[in-house]
Amino acid sequence: MSIAPLLNKVFMVDLIKGLKVTFKYQHPKEVYTEQYPLERPAIAERYRGLPRLNVNPETGETLCIACNLCATACPEHLIVVQSERNPATKRKEMTSFTLDISRCMFCGLCAEACSTDCLELSQDYEFALYSRDGFIIDRARMERGSEPTVYTR
Ligand code: SF4
Ligand code: SF4
Repeated sequence: MSIAPLLNKVFMVDLIKGLKVTFKYQHPKEVYTEQYPLERPAIAERYRGLPRLNVNPETGETLCIACNLCATACPEHLIVVQSERNPATKRKEMTSFTLDISRCMFCGLCAEACSTDCLELSQDYEFALYSRDGFIIDRARMERGSEPTVYTR
């Protein structure tokens, strides 16, 4: 071994170089720690999260007309829309809406296909569960959106 590598080893030059980089980033202005979940990160404007079914904000009635286009567009066949025809109005009315988010890839094709724009991919990202059972979300849950736990400490 030549003299230079030997001296590098003896005086632990590489270790010192590494520590120099480490200590450089110990300065408080270099530290960036997100205090999640107390502070939730800002989500990108175009982030696609949990699909949401919007209602009319004034009446609270669903905007879904049970056309089934979202279910047809979903490449994973995760959406099931059930409906019945109202004999008085002769219009189809949605009776149930379910979506299996365990296999959803948040592609947004369902929202693209929606004829009334009531289905959208929200910015909700907190829907982890301990059991797979809860991944099939129903109409009420889709209308409410996700309900993340609020931590105070
Ligand atoms: S986002 Fe994509 S995978 Fe998820 S329900 Fe919509 S169409 Fe299906
Ligand atoms: S495409 Fe829109 S309006 Fe049609 S069933 Fe799906 S959510 Fe309802």
